[in-house]
Amino acid sequence: MKFGGTSVGDVAAFERVVGIVASQIERRPVIVVSAMTKVTDALIAAFELAKTDDHAGAVASLEPHFERHIEVSGNFFARGEPNAFNTELDFARGELADLLVRVARRSLPRQMLRDAILSYGEQLSSRLLAEVLKSRGVEARQVDARRLIVTDDEYGAAQPIWEETEELINLELQPLIGAAEVPVMGGFIAANRGGETTTLGRGGSDYSAALVAAALNADELQIWTDVTGVMTCDPRICNSARTIPVLSYEEAAELAYFGAKVLHPKTIKPAVDHAIPVRVCNTFEPAATGTMVLADSGETPNKIKSIAHKKNITILRITSARMLGSYGFMSALFQVFERFRTVIDVISTSEVSVALTLDNTAEIDKIVPELQRLGDVEVEPGYAVICVVGEGLRTSTGLASKIFSTIEDVNVALVSHGASSVNLTFVVNESVVADVIKKLHATFFVEVRD
Ligand code: ADP
Ligand code: ASP
Ligand code: MG
Repeated sequence: MKFGGTSVGDVAAFERVVGIVASQIERRPVIVVSAMTKVTDALIAAFELAKTDDHAGAVASLEPHFERHIEVSGNFFARGEPNAFNTELDFARGELADLLVRVARRSLPRQMLRDAILSYGEQLSSRLLAEVLKSRGVEARQVDARRLIVTDDEYGAAQPIWEETEELINLELQPLIGAAEVPVMGGFIAANRGGETTTLGRGGSDYSAALVAAALNADELQIWTDVTGVMTCDPRICNSARTIPVLSYEEAAELAYFGAKVLHPKTIKPAVDHAIPVRVCNTFEPAATGTMVLADSGETPNKIKSIAHKKNITILRITSARMLGSYGFMSALFQVFERFRTVIDVISTSEVSVALTLDNTAEIDKIVPELQRLGDVEVEPGYAVICVVGEGLRTSTGLASKIFSTIEDVNVALVSHGASSVNLTFVVNESVVADVIKKLHATFFVEVRD
């Protein structure tokens, strides 16, 4: 059972989690928990502030977040009494202050310090949840995720090393489960082989949970969040969004990759490999079934399951006569992105030009001069990717035409279709994205229902 940040945001949220865990205790759950909502953002902001030498300001900026933890612990334990969580929090305060000074002084590589700092969100939430569960009679035990998940050295986006991780998870967790204890661990955080703290990338707690579920060969992976499952589009954009009862793994992967942040993209992989059903449930509505992610979902009558989007996308267009009828051009192009470790999201090509989209433009100033050796390069920021997902999309007639006629007044900057059988992806200006999603949603979900 993985609980996201909003599921552990305040006292009431912790109460709900206790109820949900207690109701499934017979199924012998393992709990993976995110940092309390907004804490990871606050830790990143503190790290950035410390980089500007203001480590005192950085330490002070975290105080309101420590207070939120204290408020929760104060609700479950009598104030004044010694309590294991408050002792832990005192240590964390001191250690974080020390790490922030190191950031300012550059006494260790900053990416390494950043992960060490970020890890306190999950270190604290997991300790707090374990203590809260114990106070309510659940035999919980906090487990340090860094002893279970072994990764490479890619700070900020570390890759787990599966065989070692699988072995450690079983070694550490099976005895607890066997003794009817409920392990509670932080998501998102791990350690490299040298024991240094690493993190799995934003939203990575889902990934941690999937690794644990796969290693233990769990009956089910439950992702508890603040919405009732994966919906027909982001409910923040369109209030007529509805829960999708069943999704295939492939559909869920496409949706997650293209911005439906309700599931972390990589969550899907360990679950698919081990054929473990994933259920996305709502902490605020625990009785609702939510979304089941299964190996095969079957096709829905109108084929389209959901519309995902991702903003802040930059388009790169490379035009070169050299491309015409030659081989090796694409390889040279991709090598540039490989060298600067930059991921390409969507790609479309013609005889003499290639258009592609980037989500992460941190290295763009280095990438563009390299690409200019291959041809003319245009950089266009301010776009959004929209990804329409549904099993059987590629093979059905008339759907692309229905999609584009719905938004005929919108300028589509790039289209990609056919690579996967489950998605049609296109790029529009960021300013129209909400409008485009609302129109498509009305056409494919509201009309069909009526
Ligand atoms: P958690 O803290 O539980 O990990 P996230 O914020 O990562 O939660 O993910 C849940 C959020 O994802 C929802 O509040 C919702 O706004 C957003 N979201 C985006 N697309 C979708 C979608 N298609 N279905 C459901 N939620 C979505
Ligand atoms: N706390 C981390 C984040 O905010 C990981 C997670 O919530 O999944 O990105
Ligand atoms: Mg998330």
